[in-house]
Amino acid sequence: MNVLDKILNKENFTKDDIISLLKLTDINKIEKLYHKAEKVREKYFGDEVHLRGIIEFSNYCRQDCTYCGLRKANETVERFRMSKEEILNAARYIYDSDIKTIVLQSGEDPFYSAEDITEIINEIKAKYDVAITLSLGERAFHEYDMWRDAGADRYLLKHETANVDLYHQIHPYQKFENKIAHLKYLKSIGFQIGSGNITGLPNQTFEDIADDILLCNELDVDMASFSPFLSADNTPLSEVENCDMILLLNTMAIARLVLKNAHIPATTALATLDEEGREKGILAGANVVMPSFTPTPYRGNYLIYKDKKCISENPQQCLPCLDLRLMSVGVHASKSHGHSLKI
Ligand code: SAH
Repeated sequence: MNVLDKILNKENFTKDDIISLLKLTDINKIEKLYHKAEKVREKYFGDEVHLRGIIEFSNYCRQDCTYCGLRKANETVERFRMSKEEILNAARYIYDSDIKTIVLQSGEDPFYSAEDITEIINEIKAKYDVAITLSLGERAFHEYDMWRDAGADRYLLKHETANVDLYHQIHPYQKFENKIAHLKYLKSIGFQIGSGNITGLPNQTFEDIADDILLCNELDVDMASFSPFLSADNTPLSEVENCDMILLLNTMAIARLVLKNAHIPATTALATLDEEGREKGILAGANVVMPSFTPTPYRGNYLIYKDKKCISENPQQCLPCLDLRLMSVGVHASKSHGHSLKI
């Protein structure tokens, strides 16, 4: 057996294994890696992909992440906040579309109190049989408690990079150790947790990306998102090149091999990087897609990066397009809630 086959046949992967897979550029070898990742995905999820309907309800943010178009210092952003009624309308739309997970995402926006978010969770849960994922950034631990008690199921809080120095360079107000403490706390109170990185950040090494995957494994995450760095206008990183497609797909495929039954999305960022990004992501092991249900006037202002996909479409146009795309790679949307396979 050659070296690559030997690695691909392993159950447990060392950091060196991961680094050598990340470095693959030969098309035949890459195809072997993706094929293996696809097999692992099929083992756990068959031919089903989970859809998560995402509502990006506020683009106000108190953080200043240097990669993100919504950073506080970006004064060119037209800021918006959706009212509770608008959020509930979008939630109904997701439910009516037969999607069983509603993701509530925003910048870090303390305008919405813990009680406001609790009320929204309560109303959605009272009306619809859906799972709720929160992606609101770092909040106080007692707020997480309230939301978990109200029935929120999952919390998405990416560590962004496991390289502590790099983390502090790109997050002026945040501490890496806090991010990890928050993730651990969320898990301890029963949330299904999601973490992950941005792949292709400036000064990020293969070793760093290997550490990102291993950190997700250590945290025993239920879902892991590896999104390609895409430059955003009016940010300190606006001139940095977008992530290389092969590097991103290699990262996702390796994450599938290492994390096995975790949920891994083919992100909107990936669809933005490549016209067929979602399909390629699924063929490299992803099992989740997150169509946006942010209403059309607002979605054009939730630009965490440039040229974001589908900002002028509305969900009515997105879903048939998505169905066709899924079909083209031999999968279909699941009708189940798509909870973690680890619980
Ligand atoms: N405020 C929330 C949600 C952030 S947006 C939070 O802090 O968790 C969701 C994700 O988008 C981020 O976690 C980050 O990984 C990703 N993202 C932001 N800007 C990006 C960029 N320029 N390129 C790629 N991904 C980006």
